[in-house]
Amino acid sequence: MCNHKPVCPSADALDHDAARLVAFHPEQGWGLLCNGVVVFDDNGELLPDGRSVPAHRIAVISAA
Ligand SMILES: [Zn+2]
Repeated sequence: MCNHKPVCPSADALDHDAARLVAFHPEQGWGLLCNGVVVFDDNGELLPDGRSVPAHRIAVISAA
């Protein structure tokens, strides 16, 4: 389903969220990557096989 060059990472690849966004619905808070992964605006993900990945945020290390 991916026609990009280079080909986007597959849904089960570790870097699956690097795939191109093919649909985005900011008013609903989600987008679809071309590998079939649905991404939510809280960084949660729904994989094509039905697994969900909880929201993960970039860790901010505070020295304070
Ligand atoms: Zn692609």
